[in-house]
Amino acid sequence: MRVLVVEDERKVAKALRDGLEAERYDVSVAASGEEGFFLVNHQTFDLVLLDLMLPRRNGIEVLTTLRKRGLQTPVLILTAKDAVEDRVHGLDSGADDYLVKPFAILWHRLCGIGSWGAPWGRCPRMADYVRGLPAPQGGAAAC
Ligand code: CA
Repeated sequence: MRVLVVEDERKVAKALRDGLEAERYDVSVAASGEEGFFLVNHQTFDLVLLDLMLPRRNGIEVLTTLRKRGLQTPVLILTAKDAVEDRVHGLDSGADDYLVKPFAILWHRLCGIGSWGAPWGRCPRMADYVRGLPAPQGGAAAC
């Protein structure tokens, strides 16, 4: 199972990578929207965890372009933005689900991905890794 984490915040990216790798998922990390876009176009992933506020190309832009090109891979948006219109915009842009940081419920949502037919053998214990993360500094703009 290959997972791409597109997240510019190093601590968050590391927590996600550690948690997923501990469950034996094959994890790649992209630190910008542009890098994430490049990787999705050149490699095959079973799931993409996509931050919205990214340098060089934001998450919505990346997602919209990928869906226009026919990408079917499940995408979970990860972001500190929690306004209702942001959630709707994310889902309208082709996301399969939308999670607001911190990711206490990511674990449960990843379990849910399995029911869409992706080959998740069992639920990753992500909660152990994300619980300790501090809330984003400086509000949503910092994420
Ligand atoms: Ca970010």
